[in-house]
Amino acid sequence: MEYDLHIHTHHSSCSILKASTLLKIAKRVGLNGIAVADHNSIKGGVEVSKLNKDKDFEVIPSIEVNTDRGHVLGLYVNKDVKPGDFFEVSEEIRRQGGIAVMAHPFRMIPKLRSDLNGVDVKKYLDAVECYNARTSYFGNRAAVKFAEKNKLAKTGGSDSHFSFEIGRSRTIFEGDLTNAIKNRKTRVKGSNVTGLAGSVLSFFTKRVLRRW
Ligand SMILES: [Zn+2]
Ligand SMILES: [Zn+2]
Repeated sequence: MEYDLHIHTHHSSCSILKASTLLKIAKRVGLNGIAVADHNSIKGGVEVSKLNKDKDFEVIPSIEVNTDRGHVLGLYVNKDVKPGDFFEVSEEIRRQGGIAVMAHPFRMIPKLRSDLNGVDVKKYLDAVECYNARTSYFGNRAAVKFAEKNKLAKTGGSDSHFSFEIGRSRTIFEGDLTNAIKNRKTRVKGSNVTGLAGSVLSFFTKRVLRRW
């Protein structure tokens, strides 16, 4: 199976992706499933999963929550999770039966980098995003080392905000995703060649387009 576990929609202010476009392209690029995670909102995830009628394609309602220690992805959540304290966010994701994934922990931008010093990560996280298509080679490599050192599963996600980014990074596994993550049987692959273009467009969308 190949899943892209980090895609935004127009419900994020830095993205213009529509649910129907997203779904169509995700299938066209050969994905078997996706996690749709908007910033601090499950709106996009709910919208895309309702739209999906294909039993052979999984849409995981998800969220990307801002915390004081970095961005945390909550996969399989059904309610919004309030941004704020990392520990509370992780507990709320778990309380909803979700999977907690640290997103792009070593991104260059300080505000988006994680601070996990002194945290017993195994208690609060199920996985680490080890290939984010908007993160540098070095940032992703550091994430792989971190996941291995802490015995956490690895996920791959494009962090798509635009259609051309969908599927640029993937999580590869056999069978069921939840089991694969719990048993640390996932692999990642990806390319970050479109990452910079995507990031620049997001900046433009948020700061210019949305202000008109
Ligand atoms: Zn993020
Ligand atoms: Zn994101």
